[in-house]
Amino acid sequence: MPIQQLAPEIAAKIAAGEVVERPASVVKELVENALDAGATSVRVELEGGGLDLIRVVDDGRGIAADELELAFVRHATSKIATLDDLERIRTLGFRGEALASVSAVARVTLISRARGAAAGAQLTADEGRVGSVVAAGAREGTVVSVRGLFSSLPARLKFLKTRATETGHSLRLLEQYAMAYPGVRFTAVSEGREVFHTSGDGKLLNVLVAVYGLSVAEQMTPIGETALPADEREVARDDGSETTPDPDRPRVGGYVSKPTCYKATRQYLSFFVNGRWVQSRTLSYAVEEAYHSLLLAGRHPVAVVNLTLDPWLLDVNVHPAKTEIKFLRERQVYAAVQRATRAAILDSASAPEVSTRVFSIPAWEAVGAPPVAPAPEESGAALPADAAEASAASPDAASLWTGQGRIAAGERVSGFAAPGAPAEDAPIGGARMPALRVLGQVSQAYIIAEGPDGVYMVDQHAAHERIVLEKMIAEWRAQAVAAQLLLEPTALELAPAEREQVEEHLDALRRIGFELEPFGDEAMLARAVPATLAGKLRGQSLRELIVALAGADADAASHGETWEEHALANVACKAAIKAGQSLTPDEQRELIRQLEGASAYQSCCHGRPTLVKLSLSALEREFDRR
Ligand code: ADP
Ligand code: MG
Repeated sequence: MPIQQLAPEIAAKIAAGEVVERPASVVKELVENALDAGATSVRVELEGGGLDLIRVVDDGRGIAADELELAFVRHATSKIATLDDLERIRTLGFRGEALASVSAVARVTLISRARGAAAGAQLTADEGRVGSVVAAGAREGTVVSVRGLFSSLPARLKFLKTRATETGHSLRLLEQYAMAYPGVRFTAVSEGREVFHTSGDGKLLNVLVAVYGLSVAEQMTPIGETALPADEREVARDDGSETTPDPDRPRVGGYVSKPTCYKATRQYLSFFVNGRWVQSRTLSYAVEEAYHSLLLAGRHPVAVVNLTLDPWLLDVNVHPAKTEIKFLRERQVYAAVQRATRAAILDSASAPEVSTRVFSIPAWEAVGAPPVAPAPEESGAALPADAAEASAASPDAASLWTGQGRIAAGERVSGFAAPGAPAEDAPIGGARMPALRVLGQVSQAYIIAEGPDGVYMVDQHAAHERIVLEKMIAEWRAQAVAAQLLLEPTALELAPAEREQVEEHLDALRRIGFELEPFGDEAMLARAVPATLAGKLRGQSLRELIVALAGADADAASHGETWEEHALANVACKAAIKAGQSLTPDEQRELIRQLEGASAYQSCCHGRPTLVKLSLSALEREFDRR
C-alpha cells in the first residue's frame, strides 16, 4: 500500500484511543472538567456500564454560548495559552483533547449555562460531526451526556469487560476524585440507583467512611499537615511565614492505615498531586517503605496521600491520560512522603483494642482458678529445637550465654534485671507509650499491666524482638554490631548451593555479626555470632538461620527492606526471649521500660502487635456496670 494521509475522521478516532480507553476514561475527563470549572457538586449517571449513557452534571462556572463550539475542537482549551503555562499547570485539564476525543467515538450533547448568563445553550457532536448551537433551558453549570460510546468501534468494544465491571471501574475512579476533593459533593447513579454519595463537607475522613467503610476509616491516622492541629496548619500553609523556610518543599497530607489494618493488594494506595489523581511507583514505594517491619510480607496499607508542590517541580504532560507524572526532585518527594507516613504510624501507636469477646469470662471461671491461656501460636515459642538446646545447655556453656534474658541452669545474666530497673509499683513510661504499672506475667508469655485507661497485655516475645531489632539496627547503622566469638567454632555442613550463597554473603553476614570461613570442601566454620544470639543458637539451628539469611533475596523482602534489615529481623526473632520463659518482676518491668524506648514499640519485626489493651469502659460493659 502506498503512503496516504488518513481521512480526518479516522485519524481522530485513532487519537481518541489515547484518551478514551473505556467508559471510566470518559468519566474521568468529564469529572476533571467539572472540577476545573470550580464545581461544588458533581453528579455522574451511568447506564449500561457507561456504554449506553454517561452523564455528568456540575454546578461549575459553565461555558459561554459563543464558546461552546470551540470546546469540541481538538487542542482548544481555556486552561493554558502559552508554552510557559505548561510549566505551571494548576488545572486538571490542559490538552484540550477530551471533548474532541470523546465526541469522535460517541454522541455527545453538551448543555451549559455560564455563571451569570441569562440562558443556556446546547450543542451535539456525533462521531465527530458537530451540530449547531441552540438555546436551551438550563441551570448554571454544565451537563454533558455521552451516548453510544464505541458503537462505531467494534474493535474497542470487544476488549471491554462486562457492564458491571465497567461500572466498577467508573465508580472506583469517582471514589478517587471524591477523596481528592472532600469539599465537593459527589453522587453516582448507576442504572437508576444511587450507588455512591459524599457530603462535600470538606472532611476527608468522612469521604473515607463513604469509600472504605467505617471499620477501615476508624483505623486511619492523619499524616503530615492533616495531622497538625488546625491553628498550626494555617501557619504551615502560609508560604511567607517563618515556619516554612522552603516554599518549594512538598507538603504532605491525608490519611494512612495503622499497622493493624491492611489489605492483600496495593489497590488501596491513592495519591493526589496538586489535586490530580496519579499512579506513581515512587509514591507507592515511599508509603510501603514507611511500614517496613510493621507489616508482614504480602500485606499492604490503605493510604490516601495528598501532595502539594509547586507545579513547576512537576511534569504532568507525560501521557494523554495525565495520570503519570514526573517529579523534578524525586528523592525529596520520596523522603517527604516516607517520613510523614512513618511518623504518622508511629504516632498513632495506641495499642489495638482487644475484642471484648476474648475477655468474656463465664461467671464460674471468675470465681475459680484463673483461666489458662492457650499456647501462643506465632509467638516464637514454636522453636522446639532452640528450646531443647536452651534447656540442654550445660552449665559450663554459661560463659557463652551473654544475651538478654534467662540462661541455662537457672542462672540469670544481666539482661533485664538492670540495677537501675524501675522501682516496684512505679508506673513505667508515659512519654510515648501509656504509663504502665506492671502487675505480673501470665502463662509465661504475657506481661499484664495497668495503664491509665485499662489493662494492657504485652507479648513478651514480640516486645523483646522489637527491642533487640532496634538495638541491632542502630548498631548496624553505626557499623558496630557486637559479635561474640564462639569458644568452640561450629562447623556447618552445607549443600553446595547453600555454601555458594553463604560465600556470596560473607561480607554482609560479617557486618551483622557472623564470622564465617570455609572449612574443608563442604562445610563452613562459624567463629562468631551476633552477641545478642550468643548461646541462643547452636548446631543445627545456627546452620538453618545462616542458610535462611544467605538465601534471602533482597528483592523479595517486603516494604523496601534491605537484605540487612531483613536479616536482622530474623536474628532478632531468634535472639528474643521466648514464650514459656518465666520472668522475674524486675525483668518484666525492665522489658516494658526498654519497649518504651523502641521507636516502633507497637509491633514486632513481623508486624504482630506487641501489646493489646482492654479498656476500662470495655471492662465496665463486661461487668454490666453500664
Ligand atoms: P481541557 O480540559 O484540556 O481544556 P477539554 O476538551 O476537556 O479540554 O475541554 C475543552 C474546554 O471546554 C475546557 O478548556 C473548558 O473551557 C471547557 N469545558 C469543558 N467542560 C466544562 C465544564 N464542565 N464546565 C466548564 N467548562 C468546560
Ligand atoms: Mg478536560
